[in-house]
Amino acid sequence: MTAPAHLAVGAAICSRVRRPWLGLALAFGAHFLLDAIPHFEQAHLVGEAIGLPGRYVWAAFGATTFGALTLVVLLLARRFRARPAHPRLRYLIAGGLLSDLPDCLKYLGGAESWFGRFHSAFHAQPYWGTALYRLFAEPPVPATRPIPDEVLIHSPWAWLGWLLMIAFELAVTIIAAAVALTPPSGRSRRA
Ligand SMILES: [Zn+2]
Repeated sequence: MTAPAHLAVGAAICSRVRRPWLGLALAFGAHFLLDAIPHFEQAHLVGEAIGLPGRYVWAAFGATTFGALTLVVLLLARRFRARPAHPRLRYLIAGGLLSDLPDCLKYLGGAESWFGRFHSAFHAQPYWGTALYRLFAEPPVPATRPIPDEVLIHSPWAWLGWLLMIAFELAVTIIAAAVALTPPSGRSRRA
């Protein structure tokens, strides 16, 4: 999934787990669980459909990611404004960063490194766009036959699946950020 989803989920876990060693370990492990949920990775197909190189779609994605990150950091800063060095704030940020670390390690080590292959093993198939196309397209496509990209980009079922994946990831990110930004009940005054 995208960095904001991993960051928000890692911070949300740490906001609810008192023991830092456990919270940080769970935040790191949560990366692989989130990646196991099919998520949007078809920017090159969207680019093809709208006549733009895939890298522009990823750049738009990156800009949105950066904007979302900035917003989360600003909201966190607002929550802890009186105590910027508050240990809980550092714990939440560490949890968020640790939850996103596997993607950084994957890029540093390369997709073919042992870690890159371990990380890829958690990426579940099929993508929802492809799955919906197989379910509803006429004539039916056998599960063993790959679907060409140019067929997918002209299928409303594929687009619906991609949109659903993006909406789901957005919902996960917003809910996790809300959890991370809400003080645990009973300890609200101490954040
Ligand atoms: Zn990942």
